[in-house]
Amino acid sequence: MQKKYIMAFDQGTSSCRVVLFDRDFKIAASQQMEFKQIYPNHGWVEHDAEEIFNIQIDLSKNCLSENNISASEIAALGISNQRETTVLWNRNTGKPICNAIVWQDTRTTDICKEWIEKGYNELVRSKTGLVIDSYFSASKIKWMLDHVENAREMAENDELLFGTIDSWLIWKLTNGEKHSTDYSNASRTMLFNISELKWDEELLNLFDIPKNIMPLVNPTVSHFGNVAVDFFNEVKIPIYGVAGDQQAALFGNGCYEKGTLKNTYGTGCFMLLNTGEKLVFSSNGLLSTIAWSINNQVYYALEGSVFIAGAAIQWLRDEMCMLNTASESDKMASGINDNNGVYFVPAFSGMGTPYWDMDARGMLIGISRDTSKAHIVRAALESIAYQTRDVTELMKSESGIEILTMNVDGGASNNDFLMQFQADISDVDVLRPLDTEATVFGAACFAALGSGFWTMEQLINRQSVHKVFKPEMPEEQRKALYGKWKQAVERCLKWDC
Ligand code: ADP
Repeated sequence: MQKKYIMAFDQGTSSCRVVLFDRDFKIAASQQMEFKQIYPNHGWVEHDAEEIFNIQIDLSKNCLSENNISASEIAALGISNQRETTVLWNRNTGKPICNAIVWQDTRTTDICKEWIEKGYNELVRSKTGLVIDSYFSASKIKWMLDHVENAREMAENDELLFGTIDSWLIWKLTNGEKHSTDYSNASRTMLFNISELKWDEELLNLFDIPKNIMPLVNPTVSHFGNVAVDFFNEVKIPIYGVAGDQQAALFGNGCYEKGTLKNTYGTGCFMLLNTGEKLVFSSNGLLSTIAWSINNQVYYALEGSVFIAGAAIQWLRDEMCMLNTASESDKMASGINDNNGVYFVPAFSGMGTPYWDMDARGMLIGISRDTSKAHIVRAALESIAYQTRDVTELMKSESGIEILTMNVDGGASNNDFLMQFQADISDVDVLRPLDTEATVFGAACFAALGSGFWTMEQLINRQSVHKVFKPEMPEEQRKALYGKWKQAVERCLKWDC
C-alpha cells in the first residue's frame, strides 16, 4: 500500500502528542494529552514512565481510528522527547524500578556539588559540553542506583537498563528488542563524549555508573527498529528518527544552516544556535550539544537553557488557581498598562543559563497593596522574556553573531503579549510560524528523511508563513525594566534551601 503519512511523537514535559503529517507537510491527524506531574518531596519532580508510554500508544491508535487511517499507510515513526529525564527499568519484568526523575528535579544537587568540589567541572565540560548540574541525567542515575533497593545488584546481574524517555519508548515499542538512543539525547546525559561520540568510560567510572546499563547510541536519522506487531494490527512501523525535543525543534524550525537560531517556549525555554559541523565550546555557561547526526555527519549547537518558562504559567493556573487556562494569561497581561513594579523570578528548580545556580529559588518582589492578580500574571509572562534576553545576551557575546531575528515555537509562543514583550525587551524581530508545532514537525522530518518519505531538498523549499512581532519599546524603558529584572535575580541566587 502507498505510504501516505509520517507519524511523529512529541513526548514533552507536560504533555504527550502524536501527529500524522501527509506528503504536503499538512497535519492529517493530531492528538494531545497532559499527563501526571508527581511532586513527592520538596524539589522533586517525577513522571510515571508507564503512563507516558500508554498515553503515547492510545493517542496514536486514536489518530488512526478517528481519521480512518490504516497503520499500513504510515511510512515511519519519528520520536522527539523531553530530554535528560531518567528511567531505569528491569529488562526481565519490563517495569521501571521507580518513577522517572524529571530534568527539573533538584534532589541530586548535593551529588553535583560534591563532583564540582572534586574539581570535575572542566573535565565534564571538555568531554560532554555541559556544566555539572542536577539538570542532566548522570546524577539522577547515580541517585537511583544508590537509593532504590537492589538497583546496583540488578545492574551487576545485567538486569537493569537506563534510558532517557526516547530509549524507554523504543524499548517498549519494540517489545524489548532494542535498547538504544540517538546522539542528541545521549549528549544530555553528562556521560557522552560529544567529540569521540561514545559513552565516556572515565566519567562512568568517576560517577560510579556501570556501562552495561547504557543504551546503544545511533545517529538521529537511522533505523532504530520496528514497532512490534502487537500495537498496530500486525503492521511493523519502522522507527527512523529520534531526537531530543529541543534539537527536533531546531530542525523543525528550518534552522538547517550554521548560524541559525530558534527559541522554544514550552515548560522551559531553550535557545539553540546551529554551529554546523564544528563543536564550539562556551566559556560562560552556554552548553555545547549535539544537534543531530544525519548521513554520517554530526551537527553541533550552542544552547541556553531556561528551566521554568511556560511552567510558571502552569503553576499560576494549577497551584495558585489564578488562571483557568494558560492562554487566559495573554488577555490579563495586556489588559493592564505595566507590571506595577512586580517582578517574578520563577527559579523553581534553580537557574540555568547564564546563572547556573542550583540553590536559587523562586521569588515575587515589588508587591504592594495595589498589586492585583493581573500584575502577578504579567510578571510571570515578563519573566519568560527577561530570561530569554539573559540567554540572548550571552549567545551574542559567545558566538559573535548579531541576533536580529528570533524564530520561536512551543506552547507559550502562542501568547501575543509575551511575543510582543519579547521583541520589545530584546530589541529583535520575533518570527512566529503560523504553525508553532516545530518539535513534532522536526521529529517527523527526521523519520521522513530516514525512510525517504521527504528529501532534504523538499524540506529546504518548503515555505512557511510567519507572524512578525517588531520592537516598539523606547530604549530608555527597555533599559530600566531589564535593569530591575537583573536586580531581582540577584536577590534570589544562592538561596539557602
Ligand atoms: P512541553 O513540550 O514542554 O510539554 P509545550 O510546548 O506543550 O511544552 O507548552 C506547554 C507549556 O506552555 C505549559 O507550561 C503551558 O503552561 C504553557 N502555555 C501554553 N499555552 C500558553 C499561552 N497561551 N500562554 C502562556 N503559556 C502557555
